[in-house]
Amino acid sequence: MTRYFRFGEFEIVQNPDEPPAFGAVCVAHPKECHEHSGNVSDVKTVHKWIAGHARDTGHLDFDRNMGDRCHVIPPEGAIPEARVPRSV
Ligand SMILES: [Zn+2]
Repeated sequence: MTRYFRFGEFEIVQNPDEPPAFGAVCVAHPKECHEHSGNVSDVKTVHKWIAGHARDTGHLDFDRNMGDRCHVIPPEGAIPEARVPRSV
């Protein structure tokens, strides 16, 4: 799924070649546990890991994260030519 956002005239597009990554970290006892699900492309896999970790440890609090890579399409002339990377 490609998502589009706008900030003024700048268009911000999710990179379709880099799917979002989901993950979770146990924060119930951060100094003792802090186990991480690993990053996966499917939030259901993260939820399954959270449920399994809760079942196995009794830990009930997690930080759940989602990250993605995006690309900015600026309006014409918004970025000085000297700042735009050139392809070789
Ligand atoms: Zn834990």
